[in-house]
Amino acid sequence: MSNIGQCRVCKQGLLEIVKEEKTNEIFICCDLCEGEWQTPEDAFNNQNGSRNKYGKVIYPTAKEIKSMHWNVKIFDDFN
Ligand SMILES: [Zn+2]
Repeated sequence: MSNIGQCRVCKQGLLEIVKEEKTNEIFICCDLCEGEWQTPEDAFNNQNGSRNKYGKVIYPTAKEIKSMHWNVKIFDDFN
């Protein structure tokens, strides 16, 4: 999975890049506090967040992540 670093809210979780299976919408989700944000900027600034807004999520491919053109450092973790 890919992430954009540590969650600014719980300060322990990882901000994972995930995709809602049903809509193919790519967004950011903390693996610990389950906060959701539509963009990395929102996640870093802890604004416009939500919880349980999305359904089942899967991990997007590297290509899909690239297509978002997010101007942030992306970390890959293949554990
Ligand atoms: Zn968190």
